[in-house]
Amino acid sequence: MEQKHIAIFNIPAHGHINPTLALTKKLVERGYRVTYPVTDEFVAAIEETGAEPLQYRSTLNINPQTIREMMKNKEDMPQAPKMFMKEVEEVLPQLEELYQHDRPDLIVYDFMAMTGKLIAEKLGVEAVRLCSTYAQNEHFQFKDLVERMQIEKVGQQVSDLKNANFSTARFEELFEPAKLNIVFMPRAFQPYGDTFDERFRFVGPSLAERKFQNNNEQLVKDDGRPVMLISLGTAFNAWSEFYSMCIDAFRDTKWQVIMSVGAAIDPESFEDIPDNFSIRQSVPQLEILKKAKLFITHGGMNSTMEALNEGVPLVVIPQMPEQEMTARRVEELGLGRHLQPEATTVQRLQEAVSQVDDNTELLNRVKDMQENIKEAGGAEKAADEIEAFFKPITVN
Ligand code: UDP
Repeated sequence: MEQKHIAIFNIPAHGHINPTLALTKKLVERGYRVTYPVTDEFVAAIEETGAEPLQYRSTLNINPQTIREMMKNKEDMPQAPKMFMKEVEEVLPQLEELYQHDRPDLIVYDFMAMTGKLIAEKLGVEAVRLCSTYAQNEHFQFKDLVERMQIEKVGQQVSDLKNANFSTARFEELFEPAKLNIVFMPRAFQPYGDTFDERFRFVGPSLAERKFQNNNEQLVKDDGRPVMLISLGTAFNAWSEFYSMCIDAFRDTKWQVIMSVGAAIDPESFEDIPDNFSIRQSVPQLEILKKAKLFITHGGMNSTMEALNEGVPLVVIPQMPEQEMTARRVEELGLGRHLQPEATTVQRLQEAVSQVDDNTELLNRVKDMQENIKEAGGAEKAADEIEAFFKPITVN
């Protein structure tokens, strides 16, 4: 029988590509031919899944320094939809060319990869949407929540996107559900989780080994000291004062601290690095979380899910509204502490860590969430859902 072709579309961001890797691998293992257009940076990760990486050029500048400037100056926030629409204009023709003579049988796209939705419409191919963050419905809207959280400026700007301008109207479509939406968190973590209908499948994190990250360095020493991981993810991480505070807070303590500072910061730039710290621009996070006792994180959805999947409690210091929502959710569900970035000090870091560390009740709740994640089924379940959706439409 002829091999069916699935094309996966995404944006060039680790937080969006990482949750698709294990799923992509499963689809390849199940006998599909999977193509996955990516920028240079992600070719090795896609090759490891067995899918065919197709290369395209992106206009998105997901550079931590630029992002930090933009977040500081919230007036720049309305630029985001424009940036994404410009990306669509640039990328769409490239992708159309790639698929012109190689029509996929199914398209799978991250909700931010508008190109996936547009190509599916254009080619008349069914499409499955992936939610690498919270799903939305009439009960749970990102915009309402941001407003309720009184992050007024951002809330207002999200409302302003309703202006009848073509680009922003299309930007709003990012939040509309498809016939099948795979959500990479367990239903128990999604706010108003029980209000989502059968179009939404909460499969939890989709995780696979990441050989492309291996450099054979043994970062964690098995010497009995508890391991603390500190990371602000891959995009909102250019905050050097924060890392200096962490050094002061946990210098010469019982902790073996692994700190990932991101590509914008030189790990050697910190003065007087204590012996109990290992500082790198990037670390193999999944491997370290297997051995970690605590995670100080920005609350990116992947980081949050990856930690809970390993039963690791959290101290969340969010860097943008979605992460703030997660920080609040983590505290509401009793899975860790939320620290406001503006209020972060050496002492508050120490206090938050001591409130989370060895807190039996909190750990029990983390274990319950870990159980929810295991039951959600991950990449295997996501592949099942996609096949169940796909098979009936390709019988002939
Ligand atoms: N990550 C990693 N090593 C690092 C920092 C991050 O492997 O040193 C991975 C992490 O495991 C996660 C992703 O990068 O899968 C970050 O995604 P998240 O949604 O947490 O945050 P974002 O980077 O999108 O802000």
